[in-house]
Amino acid sequence: MSQFDITIVGSGMVGATLACMLANETDLSIAVIDNAKPVAKPSMDSFDLRVSAITRASENIFRNIGVWPAIEALRVSPYRDMHVWDAKGNGIIHFDSADLSEATLGHIIENQVMQYALQQRLQTYSNVTLIAPASCKKLIENEQQNVLLLDDDKVITTSLLVGADGGRSWVRQQSAIMTRGWDYDQVALVTYVKTEKSHQETAWQRFMPTGPLAFLPLLDGYSSIVWSTSAEQANELKNMDATEFNKALCVASDNRLGDILSCAERAVFPLRFFVVEHYIKPNLALVGDAAHTIHPLAGQGVNMGLADAAALAQTLIDAIMQGKTVNSTSVLRRYERWRKADNLAMMVAMDGLKNMFGSEIGVVQALRNTGMNIVDNTPVVKNMLIKQAMGLTGDLSRFASLN
Ligand SMILES: Cc1cc2nc3c(=O)[nH]c(=O)nc-3n(C[C@H](O)[C@H](O)[C@H](O)COP(=O)(O)OP(=O)(O)OC[C@H]3O[C@@H](n4cnc5c(N)ncnc54)[C@H](O)[C@@H]3O)c2cc1C
Repeated sequence: MSQFDITIVGSGMVGATLACMLANETDLSIAVIDNAKPVAKPSMDSFDLRVSAITRASENIFRNIGVWPAIEALRVSPYRDMHVWDAKGNGIIHFDSADLSEATLGHIIENQVMQYALQQRLQTYSNVTLIAPASCKKLIENEQQNVLLLDDDKVITTSLLVGADGGRSWVRQQSAIMTRGWDYDQVALVTYVKTEKSHQETAWQRFMPTGPLAFLPLLDGYSSIVWSTSAEQANELKNMDATEFNKALCVASDNRLGDILSCAERAVFPLRFFVVEHYIKPNLALVGDAAHTIHPLAGQGVNMGLADAAALAQTLIDAIMQGKTVNSTSVLRRYERWRKADNLAMMVAMDGLKNMFGSEIGVVQALRNTGMNIVDNTPVVKNMLIKQAMGLTGDLSRFASLN
């Protein structure tokens, strides 16, 4: 039997970041359990199919825990501009980091790169034990602490259990925390491509009634593709030969980056909207996709999760300084209050955008095109939206604030 102050299930981007923040500033004993093997060093000969647009706020979090140099040394791609346009009309919005005198709006980073750098960092702390691969078998919730039984019959007792185990969270299911939400009528087809024209370190996104298509800039003239569409169309696109697929992609993107010169394998991911009814229970908290998932159209999912991790870490560290215990209900409630409202506001806004751009009703199309052009020509509103997209608005934790 092993005893830990905090046990985090899930060493993905969110769980591993939380563990690093706590290990950096406390001497709490921390276990991190994952049912997958630690991520191997990413190959520099190809890109990971899964990438994330990482906001400046999330970059600050990585900088504050000292992992940004390792991520940057592996591979990151800055994006300085964002072009959004409507397939059904003349609406465009162009966000430019220079309008805020900033060098970038954010970076496109492969998920594997972040996970690898974070997991390597985790293994440098003497107060962190990474247990992976290991499967959890049973959760026994007691008044003072939680008990986890692992598949190999190891028993872990912990004052606080954190579920950072993604959208299908085992911790959430075991603790019977309910969710509200639905499956979207869209799935996301992802791949990466080389294009004829330069992407100009710009994120390009075209909204079609079937769903948005994004070209996210990678290094060496490559772009990561996230094409949200119906399951039927995604299936057709996935099964096309490369020449057919490249042509379809070129047409769907309005030929914005010229011909598609090559494309990698294609994968399809289901898209869901859900949020938990409660982020906490006695001796338990949920962070990241375990607590909420949204449509990837604005690239906010993992950024919201990293903000959860930073808020929970700050709340726990402050509590320790005040002599409180990490599983005190009032402490956990503070975390829940902090993140629940911010996340819900973002989720509702993203869901609204998805529905507005999905509408084929003439008047809605006309209004959204007019709205986009008004926003594009109103610097005050545009700058506010840029700041929001950079994650620099709302109640930021000290980990996410600029140094
Ligand atoms: C197509 C697509 C594009 C996206 N693009 C963006 C973007 O540009 N920007 C953005 O911010 N977000 C984006 N997202 C969302 C983002 O990928 C997720 O929000 C993010 O992966 C969530 O991170 P996480 O650490 O909470 O969960 P996960 O990444 O799911 O990690 C969960 C971890 O828990 C482990 N685990 C799972 N089950 C168990 C178990 N039972 N026991 C032990 N360990 C377990 C897993 O092995 C994994 O390591 C996108 C999502 C999709 C589908």
